[in-house]
Amino acid sequence: MSGLAAYAADEAQSRGRRYEEPAATYRGEYQRDRDRIIHSTAFRRLVYKTQVFVNHEGDLYRTRLTHSLEVSQVGRSVAAALSLNEPLIEAICLAHDLGHTPFGHAGQDELNDCMREFGGFEHNLQSLRVVDELEAKYAEFPGLNLMFETREGILKHCSKANARELGDIGQRFLNREQPGLEAQIANIADAIAYNNHDVDDGIRAGLLSVEQLRDQALFASGYEEVRRRYPDLEDRRLIYETIRRMIGAVVSDLIETTRANIEAAAPRSIDDVRMASKALVSFSDEVYEQHIALKRFLQKHLYSHEKKLKMTKRAQTIIRELFELYSADVKLLPDEFSDHAANEDEPGRARIVADYVAGMTDRYAIAEHERLL
Ligand code: MG
Repeated sequence: MSGLAAYAADEAQSRGRRYEEPAATYRGEYQRDRDRIIHSTAFRRLVYKTQVFVNHEGDLYRTRLTHSLEVSQVGRSVAAALSLNEPLIEAICLAHDLGHTPFGHAGQDELNDCMREFGGFEHNLQSLRVVDELEAKYAEFPGLNLMFETREGILKHCSKANARELGDIGQRFLNREQPGLEAQIANIADAIAYNNHDVDDGIRAGLLSVEQLRDQALFASGYEEVRRRYPDLEDRRLIYETIRRMIGAVVSDLIETTRANIEAAAPRSIDDVRMASKALVSFSDEVYEQHIALKRFLQKHLYSHEKKLKMTKRAQTIIRELFELYSADVKLLPDEFSDHAANEDEPGRARIVADYVAGMTDRYAIAEHERLL
C-alpha cells in the first residue's frame, strides 16, 4: 500500500489469516477485516451495551457502539498523521470492545467471579474469542478469520497462562515484545475517547460539576481558553468547546511525542517496532500525568458515584442469577448453545454459559432475567 511508513503494518508482510483465503478483489485485507467486523452480530449488539450509563438511562449517553466509533475516529487521525495503516487501526478500534458483557465493568467483574473456578472471564480476551471462534457466519471457518495484526491489536493484554494457550498470538506476552504501532495507538485511542466522553456524559448526567473539573489541568486549560475567547457562550456549547480542545491537546501531544520516539528509535520495519525495548507510542510526561490524573478523577467521582453503584449492584445480581440458572439447566439456553453444552464437562459448560451471557445486550439480559425468575 503506497504512502505507508516503512514501520507501518503492511498487508504484503502480514503474518496472515488462520485459514488461508483468496485475496479480496477490490479491498485491502485490513479493509476486509474492518468490513467483517461491521457486519458481525457482536458489533450490532454494542448499540445496546453499557459504556458507563446503562442504555435506557438516556438517549444522549455513549453506548459501547458510539464509544467504539469515537475510539476509531481518534485512532484514524493519529494513524493518518504518522503514515500508519488506517484501515488496520480502524478494524482494531471497532473490534476492541466486542467481548464486553452487558452492564460494563460491573458485568465483566461479576462474570469473572462466576467463572473463577473455570479460568475466569476477561473482556479483552473475549473480544479475541468473538472474532476467532464465536461469530458463526462463514461456511469455511469459525469466527471472522481476521489478519494476524488485527487480532494482535485486539488482544491488548493477556496473562502468561492464557498467552501459552493462545499460541502465536499470545507469544509477545511471553517474549515481552511490543505489538505494531497501529495496535499501540488503538490502545491509547480507547483511553483518550473515554476520558473525554465520560467528562461530557458525567456533566450531562449531573454527576460531575464544572467546579470539580476545573481542578483537572486538561479540562482547566481548555475551559479558560474558551471563556476568554467567548465570554458569553452558553453552558452546553462551553462544555463542547472545552472537550474539543481537550481531545485536540492530547491527540496532538500523542502524535508529536510518538513522532519523536520513532525518529529516535529509527525502526525500519514492523518487526523493529515489535522488538523495541519499549512502546514507541506515548504521550509526553506532562500530558501523561494530566491524562492519568483525569482518569483517576473519573474513577473516583464518576465510576464510583453512589448512583452508579446502585446500578452496579442490580447488574451483578442479574449476571450472577442468569449464570447460575443456565449452568443448572443448559436446556434453558438457545439450541445452538445447549447442543454444544450437552457434550461438555463442567468447565466446558461454564464457558458456553459465559459466552452466552457475555453476548447479551443490557436490555436482553434484563428481560431474560425477568422472564426466567
Ligand atoms: Mg473501550
